[in-house]
Order: sequence, then structure tokens, then C-alpha cells
Amino acid sequence: MFHSAALKLTMWYLAIIMALSIGLSVALYYVSNIELTKSANRTLDFYNIVFGPDDKGAFSNERLQQLSKDRAHLRNNLVLFNVGVLLVGGGASYALARRTLQPIEEALEAQKRFTGDASHELRTPLTAMQTEIEVALRSPSLSKKEATDLLKSNLEEVGKLRNLSEGLLILATASNNDLPKQKVLIKDAVEQAAQAVAKLAKSRKISIKTSARPIQVVGNHQQILNLLSILLDNAIKYSQPGGEVELTAKISDQQAIISVIDHGQGIEASDLPYIFERFYRADASRSKNHIEGYGLGLAIAKKIVDLHNGSIEVASTPNMGSTFIVKLPLTKHQPIDI
Ligand code: ADP
Repeated sequence: MFHSAALKLTMWYLAIIMALSIGLSVALYYVSNIELTKSANRTLDFYNIVFGPDDKGAFSNERLQQLSKDRAHLRNNLVLFNVGVLLVGGGASYALARRTLQPIEEALEAQKRFTGDASHELRTPLTAMQTEIEVALRSPSLSKKEATDLLKSNLEEVGKLRNLSEGLLILATASNNDLPKQKVLIKDAVEQAAQAVAKLAKSRKISIKTSARPIQVVGNHQQILNLLSILLDNAIKYSQPGGEVELTAKISDQQAIISVIDHGQGIEASDLPYIFERFYRADASRSKNHIEGYGLGLAIAKKIVDLHNGSIEVASTPNMGSTFIVKLPLTKHQPIDI
């Protein structure tokens, strides 16, 4: 598809180049022809004066032959020039067409991969639900308890599907202009995020320590809350029971610096470059420990940070823990720190 599009675009570029080149050549031919004719006429007038109208004949014929030779020479040169433009222009047009189409091709490829990955992830909970329902329907005497268990399990899968579709929606649609922004107090977001993951932390016997200065940024409170919740959620998920997770916020270099620190399983250096990619899950989280997730959390976190003109980075050592650092631009005036 892209090959034929590149050829079509090449044809268009080449048609434009050739139209310009032929147009200019025709104009050049006419202007040069006028000048050549003028020059020949001047010579003929000169012969007329020097040799008189009777004797100029032989010289005049010679000069007129010369004029038609010059014209033919000019035409040949212009035709050769246009053939050259056609060849060089054809090659250059093709290269330019490929270059123009390359980002579109890459974006389409990424879109295809995203859709493929998303439908693959959507299929897993749907298949689980389908199997459970089919088994239940085949059972001749489904007890009330079995039916309740089935519904509970289905509800869990529906919850997962909802989370997944919400994540996909943020990744697919949110742009800087869609995001209503106001002044956000990071301290509030930190406390609310810690609150949001408190249940998960408790179930995994992990304590959360927060310390935040009264820092203000321009942004979307809900999205910043989501960002911190994703990082805290991961810190808890990838820590050993009984561990500790820290969430701190301070100002440095005229930026809000938010750190989420855990002392959990850490991330292998080979995984680090990819963890912010959509659907990427390090092997350790996929297989060894069966920690639930779709590999979308950090991609969403990165998207939220980008929408706030900030940055996110990670430092991690396997079996020692990870530190995620988010930097966000501050508002002009900061609340007084007491
Ligand atoms: P998910 O947690 O759903 O797999 P994420 O996008 O949030 O997806 O994270 C991508 C991968 O990065 C995870 O699969 C995990 O391997 C790794 N990761 C993220 N946060 C941490 C962390 N705090 N400690 C160790 N590994 C982490």
C-alpha cells in the first residue's frame, strides 16, 4: 500500500518539477530566440551597409544558416537538460516521497500494534468469563453459592475490563488541549493517592510513608492523582510483603520533584528502556510472580507527565528497589511554606 502511495506521490512531485522545468525551458527558448534573431538582423544590416544590397547575398545566407544552427543547438541543449531533470528529478522525487510517507507509515504501524495488543488484552478477561459461564450453564444443578461465586468472578473480570478500557481511552484520546488545568496542590494529591492505595498496601502488609512540601503546579488534579496512584500501585505490587514505600515531594531547580521509592524486586537494566511503552511487562512480572497488570500503567503515567510538560525517569537495581522521579513545572507563585 505504501509502495504504490510512494509511486503516486513521486509522479505528482515529478509532474510539478517537469511542468516547471519545461515551462522555464520554453520561456528561455523564446527569449533566447528573440535575442538570436535580433543579433542576426543586426549582422545582416551591417552586411547591407558594408557590401551593399547586391553583394551581401552570400554572407547573409551564411548568417541565416548560422542562426538556424544556433536555434537547433539551443533546442537540443534544452531537451537534454529536461531529460536530465526527468532522471534526477525522478530519483529525488521518489526519495522525497518515501521520506514524506515514512512518519505516516510508522504511525500507522504503531496504531496497528496498539490495536492488536489491546484486542489481545481484552480477549483474556472475556475468554475467562465465557469459559466460566459455559461451564456453569452445562452444570445440571447450579447451586446458589456456585452462581454467586460465578457472578463475583465475572464482576472481577468486568472490573479489569473497565480499568483496561479506561487506560486505553486515556492513551488514545487525551491531548494537551483536552485537559482542563487549574492550580494543583501536590500535597493534597500525595495524600489522596496514598489514601487510594491504602487498601492494597494493607493487604500486602506494606507501609506507605509520605512527606510533601506545599508545592503548587498548574495541571489537572485528577490526572496528577492518577499518576501518583499508578506509581504507588506499582511500588506496592512489586515490593515484598512487609516492605515500605515512600512518596515525597519537594522543590528543586524551580521544579516540583515527586519521588516514589520502593525496596522491592527492582527492574533489570535490559527492561528499563521499555517499561514506559504500552503493554510492556518485564518478564519477571509476567511469569515468575504472576503479578497482575496489563503493562499500561507506566505508559499512562508517561502520557500524563507529558500532558503537564514534565518528565519522568527511573533508577532501579534488581532486588534492591526502584525510584521513580517525576518533575513538573511550578506555578509562578508558590504557597507560603510554614
Ligand atoms: P504493569 O504493572 O501493569 O505490568 P506498568 O506499565 O505499570 O504495567 O509497568 C511496566 C513494567 O515495569 C511492569 O510489568 C514491571 O515489570 C515494571 N515495573 C514498574 N514499576 C515497577 C516497580 N516499582 N518495581 C519493579 N518493577 C516495576
